[in-house]
Amino acid sequence: MRQKKLVWHIFPSFLAAILLCIVAVTWYASASIQDFFLAHVEADLMARAGLVRARVERLLADPSELRSFCVQVGRESVTRITVISPDGRILADSNERPESMENHLKRPEIVTALAGGTGQSLRFSRTLNESMLYVAIPIRHATTGAATVDAVLRLAVPVTSIDRALAAIQMRIGLGSIVVIVVAGLIVLLISRRISRPFEGMKQNAEDFARGDFSRKMQMSLPDSASLEVVSFAASMDRMAEMLDDKITTIETHRKQLDAVFSSMIEAVVAIDKDERVIGINAAAARLLGVDAGEAPGKFLQAVVRNIELQDQIGGVLSSGEPVENEIVFRDREGEKLLQVRIVSLHAGRAKEVGALAVINDVTKLRRLETIRRDFVANVSHELRTPITSIRGYVETLLDGAIDNRDVAVSFLQTVLRQSERLNAIIDDLLALSRIEQESRAGGIDLREGPLGKVLEAAVQTCRIEAEKAGVGLVVDCPEGILATMNDTLLEQAIVNLVVNAIRYSRSGEVVSVAAASSAGEGGIPQVAIAVRDTGCGIAPKHLPRLFERFYRSDQARSRAEGGTGLGLAIVKHIVQAHGGTIDVRSQEGIGSEFIITLEGRTA
Ligand code: ADP
Repeated sequence: MRQKKLVWHIFPSFLAAILLCIVAVTWYASASIQDFFLAHVEADLMARAGLVRARVERLLADPSELRSFCVQVGRESVTRITVISPDGRILADSNERPESMENHLKRPEIVTALAGGTGQSLRFSRTLNESMLYVAIPIRHATTGAATVDAVLRLAVPVTSIDRALAAIQMRIGLGSIVVIVVAGLIVLLISRRISRPFEGMKQNAEDFARGDFSRKMQMSLPDSASLEVVSFAASMDRMAEMLDDKITTIETHRKQLDAVFSSMIEAVVAIDKDERVIGINAAAARLLGVDAGEAPGKFLQAVVRNIELQDQIGGVLSSGEPVENEIVFRDREGEKLLQVRIVSLHAGRAKEVGALAVINDVTKLRRLETIRRDFVANVSHELRTPITSIRGYVETLLDGAIDNRDVAVSFLQTVLRQSERLNAIIDDLLALSRIEQESRAGGIDLREGPLGKVLEAAVQTCRIEAEKAGVGLVVDCPEGILATMNDTLLEQAIVNLVVNAIRYSRSGEVVSVAAASSAGEGGIPQVAIAVRDTGCGIAPKHLPRLFERFYRSDQARSRAEGGTGLGLAIVKHIVQAHGGTIDVRSQEGIGSEFIITLEGRTA
């Protein structure tokens, strides 16, 4: 429905009220004037009837005389005079011939007069074709007594003149009314404009409020003519706007705080509504699931995260309301991730469920570490059990009697000694590993810049006896002035491990070399590279990726036979990592191996 302006509500109703008043006044005035006129004419007719009554009474016996009297008096007094007998016949009439007139017994004024009263009636006369006022009085013959009516004398005058006078009065009232209506209309228009004008400004203001602009006060924009009600209404609106402004600011602050918490959370969080559309997704979740955090809200979860398991679990929580905790496999371009997902239903206010909230953690690394730790414990147990089983076997055999055979006993005890040395070596290596791990975790190892040559020489020196035993030559090639940022003791141990391996897996007569060189390095940071080369048996390519794992051996039997613990390279890797460096291996079966450590360093 089309809404009307306020002025068009006020103006027509005021106008209608004024019109109604004028019509009522006109009608009442007309009716009063008419009543007054009629009462006046009626009194006049009564007086005239009183005057002619005596003559008529006397002439009743002589009808012709009566008729001529009526005609004469009627003409003189401009009054119609009629005499009617008690049976309704016309005895005489001033205007018509009595024979041509119908019986008047039923006329209301005659009925009243015949009953002894004074009858009057205002009606349209068909005989004379105009409105007439009739007055009828009874005539009683003096001789017959007062009880019976001998005839009825009726006098009548036309009232058309009254109607005309009334029409003239009504016309004047009508003209006056038009003037009043025009003037009143203008005044009403002005008043209604004055009432409605403040609302125009208020409407503008309210629209500003709706847009969130509370800067302009409604009271300020009101004209001085505004009424008390409008002013207090505007004051209430201003108060409401102030409160709204306050509330919106508070909500905004809360929202920003929540946003900050949400987006800086390490846990990935995704909120979903009841229709499985994304309500919100934080930066961590976007990163983890590989989606655009800005575009996801409003979209269906299925379209955002293509993982059936996650969708199913969220669907389950949405339908059951029961929280769920699970681990799911998530595949993306980077590979496979193991995600720990906790989903609870989201509530708005009391008990009303509006969706679900999923908190996701990437536990891939954690699970991998757990696996490594489990494997490590299994490996350690296995590694320790081998020499212990061996020692126990030999000791039991000795106790069973072999001790009596001196040669056998000595050989057995030598084996027991070797195995216990092996045990010692494993434990030493394990301790070394855990020490390096602990040191690098607790704020890093102590690194200092120093000449690399000295460290390489010391390492080679340590291995010299072993090299001689194996008939393997050792050479060091380190240019003067090469400085490395290192922990001398640890780096020496790493080099020793690499050189010992190289000696172990070389044949007699071969040479193991330790060479160092400095370079510009990546990103402008100068580096030194230390390469330990041998021309021994080499390593098959399939072993290379796992070579630095604890207890990983490319050749189990040989490693054990050579007294290896399987921890040497793991220790090297940890030392190099603690230095912030890298270790690489290049090897070809039957040709030899090269282990290269890269550290921060320079040539002085
Ligand atoms: P181990 O104590 O058994 O030598 P490491 O961790 O030092 O343990 O070495 C792991 C494995 O890598 C060894 O078992 C061996 O098979 C292989 N390996 C290490 N260095 C060499 C090398 N220079 N030439 C050939 N194989 C090597």
